[in-house]
Amino acid sequence: MTKKAYIEIDSERCKGCGLCINACPQHVIRFSEKFNNKGYHYAELHDPENKCIGCAFCYNMCPDVCIVVHRLVKEESKV
Ligand code: SF4
Ligand code: SF4
Repeated sequence: MTKKAYIEIDSERCKGCGLCINACPQHVIRFSEKFNNKGYHYAELHDPENKCIGCAFCYNMCPDVCIVVHRLVKEESKV
């Protein structure tokens, strides 16, 4: 499947609350097995099948504004 969108998560600012994971309709965010410097399992994109649709539900849900959404359909834009 052609990649339509992807996200970047600032792993050092993430507090591992999981809200973005619960919000994602495509189920492409998970907790990393690694810890960040604050000691949290941070969220990471895991999207081997390019299912992210750029809906930005994750971005809107994150209380710490750790997520940037990139949409690739026409021109790349940041939400
Ligand atoms: S933009 Fe939408 S589909 Fe993509 S990771 Fe965020 S919530 Fe999931
Ligand atoms: S909602 Fe934000 S702080 Fe919470 S796990 Fe996701 S990226 Fe981290």
